[in-house]
Amino acid sequence: MPGFELFGDTERESVNDVLDNGILMRYGFDGMRNGHWKAKALESELQKTLNTNHVQLVSSGTAAVSVALASAGVGAGDEVIMPTFTFVASFEAIMMLGAIPVLVDIDSTLTLDPKAVEAAITQNTKAVMVVQMCGSMGDMDTLKSICDNHNLIFVEDACQAIGGTYNGKSLGSIADVGCFSFDFVKTITCGEGGAVITNNKDYYLNADHYSDHGHDHMGNDRGAETHPFLGYNFRISELHAAVGLAQVKRLPEFLAIQKRNFNIIKNELATIPEIEFRTVPKGGIESCAFLSFFLPSLEISRKVSEAFKSNGIDVCWNYFDNNWHYIREWHHLKDAKSLYPLSSEIKNALEELKTQNFSQSDFYIGRNISCLIKLSWTEEEVRERALKMRNCINEVLIGN
Ligand SMILES: *Cc1c(COP(=O)(O)O)cnc(C)c1O
Repeated sequence: MPGFELFGDTERESVNDVLDNGILMRYGFDGMRNGHWKAKALESELQKTLNTNHVQLVSSGTAAVSVALASAGVGAGDEVIMPTFTFVASFEAIMMLGAIPVLVDIDSTLTLDPKAVEAAITQNTKAVMVVQMCGSMGDMDTLKSICDNHNLIFVEDACQAIGGTYNGKSLGSIADVGCFSFDFVKTITCGEGGAVITNNKDYYLNADHYSDHGHDHMGNDRGAETHPFLGYNFRISELHAAVGLAQVKRLPEFLAIQKRNFNIIKNELATIPEIEFRTVPKGGIESCAFLSFFLPSLEISRKVSEAFKSNGIDVCWNYFDNNWHYIREWHHLKDAKSLYPLSSEIKNALEELKTQNFSQSDFYIGRNISCLIKLSWTEEEVRERALKMRNCINEVLIGN
């Protein structure tokens, strides 16, 4: 997945374009920038790549989620349904707006179980956020129809899944509003950066203004712009956008490498009858940023992780005890360890997380191993790795 592995001359040239005239800001200074508009160019490139009407770049993926929710009007006291398996950014972005994260179980897709979503809907629910973890996706048709039936905003965090598709549509572009991250370890990197994408013009204009202090971006005198509503600063810089612009043009190349490496490992592991690959919903095509599979039990999965480690197989994780991605170890969240006072509604919701039953999520995450698919591996290295992985798994299974 990480695009930084293939950072090269085109990225350097693009950054040097910006350094040549020193206009590091994406807005204004029209006369001095010699036609360099890296952020604008990256937005229009993403628009084409993802086949969406509007793209707003921001400073990070976390900012993208917050801006997306704010643009759709999610705020204080609103409940946002999100999965137990995701990145900490999901609840951070929700709570920053004073909204309440409501965590629900995942299923074998490794994201929202539609039945769990339906069961969690209350009169305060405002949005449902699916997180397309590890290069694949949730059951988008079912989730979308739940949102439509209950009049909820459907948000899609596709930070880990650029290049994946569902019924021919790019992940990120299917829900009402989608989010991407271009942080240093994502498939396409800007160093730091993110994007909000949508076909809803109102949400787009809201995102455009909100991410720049509420500026209306009318005319070409920044000082004279008005503020139709309150905003914040989540701008991306021209330097970061320059890196992303070079990288996004290489997306087809990156995806082809991911797919080749993914298939070599998948075909090797498919010879083991005890392995079950994650469910990819009908009509879905993974981005191949990760290969995710289930083993028969948590115990076996832990042993396989250990065997991988001692045999030099890196970048494979069982997330059961992971600090970043799974609810079990989010003690700072469950204990509401905030630097500043939280609303009583948020505190109550977090308190509930301590006793809520997520055994269904444990059942999937406990048995799961997800392996990052790197871009820099040669075909020979991948074949060797795949064989080693198969041997490690078989040895654990035989010993069990
Ligand atoms: C990386 C990531 C984010 C946050 O992105 P940053 O740019 O690091 O803030 C959000 N959601 C998911 C699923 C991610 O993987």
